[in-house]
Amino acid sequence: MALIVQKYGGTSVGSIEKIGKVADKVSALAKSGDQVVVAVSAMSGETNRLIALANEMSSKPHTREMDVIISTGEQVTIALLTMALLDRGCEARSYTGTQIKMLTDSVHGKARIREVQCDAMREDLNAGRVVVVAGFQGVDEHGNITTLGRGGSDTTAVAIAAALKADECQIYTDVDGVYTTDPRIEPKARKLDRITFEEMLEMASLGSKVLQIRSVEFAGKYNVPL
Ligand code: ADP
Ligand code: ASP
Ligand code: MG
Repeated sequence: MALIVQKYGGTSVGSIEKIGKVADKVSALAKSGDQVVVAVSAMSGETNRLIALANEMSSKPHTREMDVIISTGEQVTIALLTMALLDRGCEARSYTGTQIKMLTDSVHGKARIREVQCDAMREDLNAGRVVVVAGFQGVDEHGNITTLGRGGSDTTAVAIAAALKADECQIYTDVDGVYTTDPRIEPKARKLDRITFEEMLEMASLGSKVLQIRSVEFAGKYNVPL
């Protein structure tokens, strides 16, 4: 029995059909006997839509309120995925960043994770339940909602994997692997079987956005197989 953390990005949860497919995959893994935590992004386009809405309301949206609005996309996805899992006979529970106590500093829009509370997740996992966590969001020491920067759900997944000492953190997205360069721009890009954390960081610092840089830093620091 392994403990696996999976993260599904925006395009992977971009429609009801796609969320259904994610639920099929997650429930199959859980039924095979593994313990599973899933971190999800907002449905594709949703975070941009929420940012545009805020900018329409205010010429300079308050950073605290910006985090309140842009964190809502992920809350929709955790509920939909958990409903789909329950419909498939797979016991599961959803959690927001506040509920799971994904504690961060107070830098709205680019908060850093300080601590992840594992008790509730462990209790669910030990009871055979899949844990579905909203990516990209946290809570500061005063109870304010924070967000981790664009692409931050990757970091949510890695932080949970590190905190739970998971066997593996798996990032699912709309390409089938990490390539030498963005395969959407360069058709000659080659898929890599392995890449070191250092190489991945270098790639990210050159602008490749397949993983949020912080997630790679985190994985390197805590030795999370990613
Ligand atoms: P998600 O919404 O799942 O987090 P992202 O859009 O953040 O997905 O990241 C996936 C995208 O990263 C791919 O669609 C691809 O165009 C891009 N990408 C950039 N550099 C690379 C690379 N070196 N290898 C693979 N994909 C890359
Ligand atoms: N929904 C957030 C974003 O679009 C976080 C993520 O997808 O990782 O940036
Ligand atoms: Mg991303």
